[in-house]
Amino acid sequence: MPDNLTAYRRKRDFAKTPEPSGRGDRRGRRRRFVIQKHDATSLHYDFRLEVDGVLKSWALPKGPSLDPRDKRLAMPTEDHPLSYVDFEGVIPEGEYGAGPVIVWDTGTYRNLTERDGKEVPVEQALKEGHLSFWLEGKKLRGGWSLRRVPLGRDGREKWLLVKKDDEFAIGFGIAVDVSGNAYVTGKRPPPNRRFRRRWAPTSPTTGEATTPSWPRWTPRGRRWTTPDTSAGRASTTALASRWTSPAAPTCRR
Ligand code: MN
Repeated sequence: MPDNLTAYRRKRDFAKTPEPSGRGDRRGRRRRFVIQKHDATSLHYDFRLEVDGVLKSWALPKGPSLDPRDKRLAMPTEDHPLSYVDFEGVIPEGEYGAGPVIVWDTGTYRNLTERDGKEVPVEQALKEGHLSFWLEGKKLRGGWSLRRVPLGRDGREKWLLVKKDDEFAIGFGIAVDVSGNAYVTGKRPPPNRRFRRRWAPTSPTTGEATTPSWPRWTPRGRRWTTPDTSAGRASTTALASRWTSPAAPTCRR
């Protein structure tokens, strides 16, 4: 089956990296999104939306913001395979994007892009440089927009990710740690590709990830620590407490 993953595969040696090659991926019924926290040369967040059988991808140097006044830079990167949606692991030294990757948030999204009261398909909206969408993540919810900005002097394509001003924007008592340090699942990165499988067993009753059993890992002298969850997290709604993971570790650079 033809796909647009040529650039993705050209950059990677699948004998060396634990990342998926994406061959044989199946499309889901509901379109997914993922935000992966990636501690590569510089720490960043990779935002990916399922579109037309691949994950359209942007790198967010500062991650998402819940404040509609914040316009977060989103640099487009190559399309990724659908199976990347739950990839967590360590890309080895010397490989493209070397460093640990965790799933920071994931869920499904809905297209909200309209013109004259009619839905504009996601593919077309992205071509035209403006997409509105609704995220149903573990942490992030509500309306968002992605807008391509005119080319600057450096000639690099840039987009802006902005939270829409709705009940899930900041200022409505929603406590979500978007400063960037919690895992969704509480998983820790595995020490190497021998551990490449789901390393957080899920509870048979709730489906929630249970305490990960892998040993603590120190990537290149960096430590994964547990944040102080009492600070800055006054959770005023029942929903908010569902979205935060009190035991979530923090990646310190
Ligand atoms: Mn990345």
